[in-house]
Amino acid sequence: MKILLLGSGGREHALAWKMAASPLTERLWCAPGNAGIAAEAELAALDIGDHRAVIGFCAANGVDFVVVGPEAPLVAGIVDDLEAAGIKTFGPTRAAARLEGSKGFAKDLAKANAIPTAAYERFHAATPAKAYVRAQGAPIVVKADGLAAGKGVVVAQSIAEAEATIDMMFSGGLGAAGAEVVIEEFLQGEEASFFALCDGATALPLASAQDHKRVFDGDRGPNTGGMGAYSPAPVMTPALEQRTMDEIVLPTVRAMAAMGAPFKGVLYAGLMIDADGPKLIEYNVRFGDPECQVLMLRLMSDLVPALVAARDGVLKSFDLRWYDATALAVVMAAKGYPGDYARGSVIEGLDEAAQIEDVEIFHAGTRAEGGRILSNGGRVLNVCALAPSAKEAQARAYAAVDRIRWPGGFCRRDIAWRAIARETQAQ
Ligand code: AMP
Repeated sequence: MKILLLGSGGREHALAWKMAASPLTERLWCAPGNAGIAAEAELAALDIGDHRAVIGFCAANGVDFVVVGPEAPLVAGIVDDLEAAGIKTFGPTRAAARLEGSKGFAKDLAKANAIPTAAYERFHAATPAKAYVRAQGAPIVVKADGLAAGKGVVVAQSIAEAEATIDMMFSGGLGAAGAEVVIEEFLQGEEASFFALCDGATALPLASAQDHKRVFDGDRGPNTGGMGAYSPAPVMTPALEQRTMDEIVLPTVRAMAAMGAPFKGVLYAGLMIDADGPKLIEYNVRFGDPECQVLMLRLMSDLVPALVAARDGVLKSFDLRWYDATALAVVMAAKGYPGDYARGSVIEGLDEAAQIEDVEIFHAGTRAEGGRILSNGGRVLNVCALAPSAKEAQARAYAAVDRIRWPGGFCRRDIAWRAIARETQAQ
């Protein structure tokens, strides 16, 4: 098959690495890609927001199958446009991508189908939203309805903070994403993510993961796109995974099909686990980043036929095999991230680092210039390792980090602390 992958981050590097290893892959392009992806795929300098340009590239190169990495093109309807042009594409249509593109839509769907989730209300103006906050009390969670690049959720510790957030969102602080606001109950428990591959009618469980959103060790400091992740999430027992499928994922797939917007693609359920079981925090309609990186390290089976089966609606009797080991990703970011940071600093030692057994380095924001690798974003590298335990995976990943010479970068030193504490306790 001739395959085009859309995106340019660590998630796409991991997907490209896995798809390039498939015997089904005859030729692989990635648009726009990055310096690391260039080792696995041919880079195509396309603007993926320009659907006509993507269709033109597919036609010119005989592309059989397109895989979409990030959420923005999905919500913008790139799957609808490519499929209408006769190009098989993996990912949800615009209507199905509303599960991520509109938090209000996802909450209404959950409520209508008795999917466990936080109590909530939707608002189009500040005054009633503030009255609701005052009636409910704090802590309370204020969310912009639309896509806001990870900035659309504020867990407000006081009514004043919730009111200020409501004013910020309704006064256009997040652009069109904040034209509607969802306010919901604050949930307590342990967070985990669960991924399923969907074909419009059914769903195949993939695996669980946990990530670290805060920038500094001990889960302190501002939120980021994710400073590290690991899979599996020890909190997700087989019983909880089954309940997540039965109570959350499958009812969603059935509800989307019933409303004429069948969901095909990766359904990523952000969960809060408490004594009652799993509750849905939010949906994403694609692999997480950096969760995808750890999932791909654990996946033993070929990814390509699974993605094709999801697109073709024939996942029913499909099976995937996984390594029963822990995969861990450490994100190396440019100093200053998630605030202002510089681009263009030189990164050395990547080859030596990648020589450590069961270590893979996925690039998130890099570019090549004159034979050197330069930083080209906030999150720059994902140093990943696979090992029998979280503790060993962590040691292996940091041994690789320590071989990388990049004075312009930093990383957290405690990725998977929770999983390691559980392992230590169990001993
Ligand atoms: P989301 O983008 O909806 O996943 O929200 C980002 C983060 O905000 C989540 O990963 C949680 O840590 C937190 N969060 C969102 N909704 C809630 C909630 N209802 N209760 C507690 N924390 C939440």
